[in-house]
Amino acid sequence: MSAHYPCPDCNEAHATTATSCPSVRGFVLAWQVRNRTVIGCAPCVRKALLREAGVSSLIGWFSPTAVILNPVFILWNLARAPFIRDDADKLARTYEKFGIPAPRAPMTLASAVAILSAAMVAADGRVEQAEVDTALRLGAERIPGFDAAGFHAALADRKTLPDAPQLAALVGEKLHRDEALTVLGLLRDIADADGSFDASERALLERVGQAMLRASADAGALDGLVAQGASPDTGKTAPA
Ligand SMILES: [Zn+2]
Repeated sequence: MSAHYPCPDCNEAHATTATSCPSVRGFVLAWQVRNRTVIGCAPCVRKALLREAGVSSLIGWFSPTAVILNPVFILWNLARAPFIRDDADKLARTYEKFGIPAPRAPMTLASAVAILSAAMVAADGRVEQAEVDTALRLGAERIPGFDAAGFHAALADRKTLPDAPQLAALVGEKLHRDEALTVLGLLRDIADADGSFDASERALLERVGQAMLRASADAGALDGLVAQGASPDTGKTAPA
């Protein structure tokens, strides 16, 4: 897992591990065992266990049963603390147990372009190897830091991708006209890679192109791209 939530304790490091933290509180006639789950960066989780042991050693004694359990839990927490390390598997299982969605990396321009590329590969309802290969090859050539892993992930998740025109509008806000045309040219060449530029691919390119160029305040450049099939990078022209 490469993305992380911030550590809820210090808010400075990433949350990288999780542990259980048992304790008992005794009352005069009753007692209560608790088992908190602590998530955070390793130093904060270590501190949480030690803090619990400290608090328990002060106030965990006030019933006969608590007196028996308290030293067990104090020793458990003290013994665990030095061995708390970053533990991605434990953290992932803890998130799953509590229904916390796995953290996602914030979207970058490169990953947004990768998602648009995946959307174009899937536009005609088929995932063809020629289009996948073209997307990876041209993406790496033309887009600095093209997110190949994000492209594969988006392709696997293609039923739940973000709305392509909305994404394109966000991307467009960050791009100059030339850059937007480079992205649109990439999408056009991906659509072409299987030898047919069909209606669904054309519709997607139009909607994405309008949203992106409107956002980058450069409307008007789209006509040539869609109508003639000209690639803005090479200037080559497809047969009419
Ligand atoms: Zn922390």
